[in-house]
Amino acid sequence: MSLTTNKHDTVILPQLSEAREIPRPSGAREPLKVSVYERVSKQVAQLVPIFPYDDAGAIVPCAAVMWGGPEREHGQYFHWNTASEVVITWGSNNAMLSTGQIMATQKYHGVNSFLKDEKDPEAFVIVTVTQRQSTEEGQKEAMVAKCQECKQEMIRHEYDAGPFGAPDFDPARFGREDDFIRQFSTQAGSSEFAAIRNSAEGRACPGCGFENVPLPTEPWNWTRMVKQTRIVNSAYHALTAAAEAERTA
Ligand SMILES: [Zn+2]
Repeated sequence: MSLTTNKHDTVILPQLSEAREIPRPSGAREPLKVSVYERVSKQVAQLVPIFPYDDAGAIVPCAAVMWGGPEREHGQYFHWNTASEVVITWGSNNAMLSTGQIMATQKYHGVNSFLKDEKDPEAFVIVTVTQRQSTEEGQKEAMVAKCQECKQEMIRHEYDAGPFGAPDFDPARFGREDDFIRQFSTQAGSSEFAAIRNSAEGRACPGCGFENVPLPTEPWNWTRMVKQTRIVNSAYHALTAAAEAERTA
């Protein structure tokens, strides 16, 4: 649509009915306000979605917090994601990401603590990593481990991450069809990756035979979050079953 002028050279504005309109909100995702700092202060794993929306088309900011210390070890792995990610740094000290920095990641990128010195007790970083869930088929991710000795790729754990509402969403891939709270695919896939990576077979490099040191899991804690989500679903079903039993008693 272009603006036109009449013979007096005044701009004729388009009628509202001709203008493109943003559709009204469907009501599926109620607007919510969240403080990143409040959420991160109580979260126990990395990359926790801070809003409860992860379906097709949803914009999903996920929070992470890292800190250093004499005993802290984070290891290193690589992440491949068909969805673009934008990192916002909400505060940092002695970190690779500076406070207030906004960064678009490459589709394939290394992941570690993002601290300049993970042994520095004063080092920390709080970020959100935001991705937009695909509305089309084909959202995928992969977690990759490289050998600590020969640097060759030794594990590539690729998985379909099609979100709820996308044509290739698989409700049974990371949870159960009747789940009340869906697993977040990045955490669930990362938890699978950690199990493979730290198994006896996973630690031995097929290229050079080097026995790799296990990936530290405590700083990431994906498996705990996956288990908590599973327990939450069990609790929901327990309560609905109890209510049904009471109703029919
Ligand atoms: Zn190797």
